[in-house]
Amino acid sequence: MTAQATSSIANLPVMGEMAHQSYPSATLYVVATPIGNVTDISLRALHVLSLVNAVACEDTRNTAQLMTRFGLHQPLIAAHQHNEREVAETLIARLQAGERIALVSDAGTPAVSDPGARIVDAVRAAGLRVLPLPGASAAVTALSASGLVNDQFYFVGFLPAKAKQRENFLTTLRAVTATMVFYEAPHRILDCASALAAVFERERQVVFARELTKMFEEIHRCPLSEAVAWLKADGHREKGEFVVLLEGAPAADEENDAEAERILKILLVECPVKQAANLAAQITGRKKNALYERALQLKEAM
Ligand code: SAM
Repeated sequence: MTAQATSSIANLPVMGEMAHQSYPSATLYVVATPIGNVTDISLRALHVLSLVNAVACEDTRNTAQLMTRFGLHQPLIAAHQHNEREVAETLIARLQAGERIALVSDAGTPAVSDPGARIVDAVRAAGLRVLPLPGASAAVTALSASGLVNDQFYFVGFLPAKAKQRENFLTTLRAVTATMVFYEAPHRILDCASALAAVFERERQVVFARELTKMFEEIHRCPLSEAVAWLKADGHREKGEFVVLLEGAPAADEENDAEAERILKILLVECPVKQAANLAAQITGRKKNALYERALQLKEAM
């Protein structure tokens, strides 16, 4: 950004508006920070970071670097996954004394696959105010550019690291109709793609959103059957940070389900289970295996 651009931002009419907004004391401000491009921070986030008494952060080195880039030097308090409960006590005491404290993580929105939820929970339980400042989150950023058309998404976050647990867990998601959102580390991205391909139908669409908002950002969409080959085709593709989006299962067609069931029931009176399922598949165009399973259940109940 040029010096001229920076000074014109400082002179924007909205800056005066922001300074006149209310920033209550005795409040925990949950502040989202950029996921790569440092200039994605909001004006309000910068303002709040400049006026708080302290910033509770996942890693003081990372937050110190971020703050320095904006010319900010507020005291930092380490608040990571191993000390969240204890640090919550300290923060509550300071908030009760009337301080304003910001909570940030290393990147993106605190408490989303990041530390912060326990602190927020404790602060709320103490009857103190929590004020969120929205900003970047890798999941929503990836969804917005994926082109996957679905009004619903299911945030999974990180998958279990062990292969068997990962596969078992993925199996529980087979019927989810919402777009699924996974976070993945670069050293596990190939394993993740292979596990998805082993568990879900290979024609489902998958999106790899890599290094979002950074210099080597890449957003690739393909059928699951091509995912592993795409990752392997270029060594760089297994590097960086990833959000993986997976198309959901087709939504159940309740009207057609009811019609198939009605036909099955009629056929089961006259035919054996297998024949009833075959005939119902021919009449309705639905999958024979699913109809056979349902026919077995209906027969048992007859
Ligand atoms: N709290 C963050 C948020 O709101 O998105 C997520 C933090 S989580 C510890 C880090 C994971 O988020 C990474 O492993 C990756 O899956 C995803 N992620 C973060 N930044 C990303 C980026 N720039 N591009 C793609 N994925 C990213």
